[in-house]
Amino acid sequence: MGSDCLFCRIVAGEIPATIVRETDTTLAFRDIGPKAPVHVLIIPKEHYADVAMLGQGDPALAGELLATAAAVAEDEGLLGDGFRLMFNTGTYGGQEVFHVHAHLLGGAPLGPMLARDVA
Ligand code: 5GP
Ligand code: ZN
Repeated sequence: MGSDCLFCRIVAGEIPATIVRETDTTLAFRDIGPKAPVHVLIIPKEHYADVAMLGQGDPALAGELLATAAAVAEDEGLLGDGFRLMFNTGTYGGQEVFHVHAHLLGGAPLGPMLARDVA
C-alpha cells in the first residue's frame, strides 16, 4: 500500500506521530483528535484495510495487535477502571482511515456504546 496510506506513512516515519509502544509487528500512537483523555490507535505495521481482512488474513497478527493494546492499556493506567477497544469498519462503522486500527479509549467514563439507538 505504502505512500497512498496515511498509517503506512506513519509506520515508515514519513508522517510524525506520538508513538507510545512499538513491537516488531505493531505500532501504537496517540490519536490526533482525541475523543477521551486516553485515545491511542493500535495498528499492525503490515497493511490490512480493516479488522475483517486482518482477522481472516493473519489471525496471529490480530492477536499481537490485541497484546499491544493490552500493554498500552496497562501503561496508561486503564486496567482498574476499564476502557473501550473498538474497530470502526466500513461505511456503516464510520471508518475513515482504511488501514486497520483499534481505538483504545479510556481515562473517564465513556458513556453508552452508541450515541443513539439504531435497533
Ligand atoms: P476511523 O474513523 O477510521 O476509525 O478513525 C481514524 C482516526 O484516525 C480518527 O480518530 C482520527 O482522529 C485519526 N487520525 C487521522 N489522521 C491522523 C494523523 O495524521 N495522525 C494521527 N495520530 N491520527 C490521525
Ligand atoms: Zn496502510
